[in-house]
Amino acid sequence: MTDRPFLECRDITVQFGGVRALDAVTITAQAGSITGLIGPNGAGKSTMLAVASGVLSPKSGSLLLDGEDVTHLRSHQLGRLGVARTFQAPQLVGEMTVLEHIVLAQRIGSGGPHLLRDYLTPGRSWIRADELERASRLLSGLDIGEIAAATPGALPMGTRRLVEVAQALATRPKVLLLDEPAAGLNEAESAGLADLVQRVCERFGVAVLLVEHDLELVLGISSNIFVIDFGRLIDQGPPEHIRQSRQVKEAYLGV
Ligand code: ADP
Ligand code: MG
Repeated sequence: MTDRPFLECRDITVQFGGVRALDAVTITAQAGSITGLIGPNGAGKSTMLAVASGVLSPKSGSLLLDGEDVTHLRSHQLGRLGVARTFQAPQLVGEMTVLEHIVLAQRIGSGGPHLLRDYLTPGRSWIRADELERASRLLSGLDIGEIAAATPGALPMGTRRLVEVAQALATRPKVLLLDEPAAGLNEAESAGLADLVQRVCERFGVAVLLVEHDLELVLGISSNIFVIDFGRLIDQGPPEHIRQSRQVKEAYLGV
């Protein structure tokens, strides 16, 4: 592994009307490690993920992926280059089973046609045996094999979050952007999720950028953490540094 970051959001500025959501913020993420992005509500964290995933074009600054300038690519193009994300609010489709979600994500990841038409053709199985096998293996690997046939609406929030992470992983990403994946989870579920993200990151060398409200979770699994407040980078460093940071205490406690 080189020291060059796999993902770099360099000098990113985003303006929403009169609100400067990000002001020349630079963050980087290495392959095979978890990078935390923290800050109080409204700090600009989700905005940064929107830029990193090509959903939002910055007013200025650049986005680099493995050293290549990809600032002007749209989200589907970045997706093809291996950038996957989960959203702050759940995005699962009520009518599809968990297994079907995973198979579609696998197809998206393999760059082939999504064959939504197959899915929409009544009375025939649209999932090939090899796809079924791969999707089932992924779900079992995440200890959620038993919910393959469930529809997301019937699942508890914690399990839905795991399905979303599984869906992102099914695309075989190089970069995984997670927006508050532990929101709505209890302590045991959060710990399970943290463990999962850590395993995946190490095993597949994924560059994970983790936005999370639960500071202990972030500090526990990230090797480097960026802190933003009111759209500005106020500190960065390893967990031991962030735990002692005066700027971080001020931003969170407002003192
Ligand atoms: P965080 O995820 O850190 O809580 P956001 O990135 O969602 O913060 O928001 C940063 C700032 O930008 C906030 O002031 C928010 O109100 C504003 N903002 C975010 N999205 C939009 C938008 N689409 N239009 C206008 N303002 C927005
Ligand atoms: Mg947010």
